Amino acid sequence: MNSAPRPILDSKGLRPETRLVHAGISRTPFGENAEALFLTQSFVYDTAESCEARFAGEEPGYIYSRFSNPTVAMFEARMCAVEGAEAARATATGMAAVTASLLCLLKAGDHVVAARALFGSCRYVIEELLPRFGIQSTLVEGTDLAAWKAAVRPETKVFFLESPTNPTLEIIDIAAVAKLARLAGARLVVDNVLATPLLQSPFELGADIVVYSATKHIDGGGRCLGGVILASEKFVAEHLHTFLRQTGPALSPFNAWVLLKGIETLSLRVERMQASAVKLADFLAGEKKIAKVLYPFRDDHPQVKLAKAQMKGGGTLVSFEVPGGKTAAFRFANALRLIRISNNLGDAKSLVTHPATTTHQRFTPEARAGMGIGDGLLRLSVGLEHPDDLAEDLARGLKAI
Ligand SMILES: *Cc1c(COP(=O)(O)O)cnc(C)c1O
Repeated sequence: MNSAPRPILDSKGLRPETRLVHAGISRTPFGENAEALFLTQSFVYDTAESCEARFAGEEPGYIYSRFSNPTVAMFEARMCAVEGAEAARATATGMAAVTASLLCLLKAGDHVVAARALFGSCRYVIEELLPRFGIQSTLVEGTDLAAWKAAVRPETKVFFLESPTNPTLEIIDIAAVAKLARLAGARLVVDNVLATPLLQSPFELGADIVVYSATKHIDGGGRCLGGVILASEKFVAEHLHTFLRQTGPALSPFNAWVLLKGIETLSLRVERMQASAVKLADFLAGEKKIAKVLYPFRDDHPQVKLAKAQMKGGGTLVSFEVPGGKTAAFRFANALRLIRISNNLGDAKSLVTHPATTTHQRFTPEARAGMGIGDGLLRLSVGLEHPDDLAEDLARGLKAI
């Protein structure tokens, strides 16, 4: 038994902004205001009988922090409330969340269908890792519903996608793919990192499992790695619980504590970063030197209607293409003074990434082209700086190409 803490506040009826601050808190008898950090590996018992009962699941309480920990449980309870999920389990990284959510329910002979435009490590898991264990996978053009349908086999057990996609910010119709998954008898797993829990609710669109890298917007300060898997109580009980306990991708209580404080300001940060992203997308689109701007809520985005139907906002990333390939993209990035070159996103500090030579380096140029990732493509993660300072910095980059 995982002994969940008793949240002192019923967050039902509270709005997401309030849940981000209050949901899931369980206090010690000291009555501390801020969430307590339980940096302990194990727990002690008053008697051997009590220890026996706890191991048998007959007595509530913690056993060992690989299984559960009060600080980690507060983070899980808060994520549950924010996402509107039945259950949540935290993991050490976003990739641990992706890998565990897939491996815990698949076995040799099963088949997975996934959208081609995935975070690089997710592609590795689907394309290379799973087949090593006899789990076949088919990659499809995520925006092509007929392709999802055509890829289904009798042994298809999972559909996997992220939307918006990284780094090209394509939008996949989650409700339509969820319907096809249901028809195929498969579960739909959605990697909701780019949208954050505030801008898109995959469960409302029919997803069965939602995963996050908490490393991104949820931390928001670029400090800790973390991940979370949200699903039904039944899924956790039947598949995930034992898998996580026995294989050990547990989130550190310290990182859970940092993430609990980070998430308190998520709505303020996402709102501000998104407002700046909209401004900067418009700024870049107005520049003759920019070949293409990708932002889901701009009228020139090929799927703007779908984006507006399934998302509450266009998000905090802007991707754009400079003419002149890698040379021009590097000149642009090297000329920036404020926006730093990094592969992270969702940070308070604005960051620029050249996907072709970093996150998607291991793909062939043809495979990258298939994902819409040209050598001139740059991904901008918009932070909390004043948008005018960011625009001035981008102008520096433009001048250099
Ligand atoms: C960052 C990221 C991940 C992996 O998260 P980590 O915390 O770095 O392991 C997975 N999917 C997407 C879309 C991401 O952006």
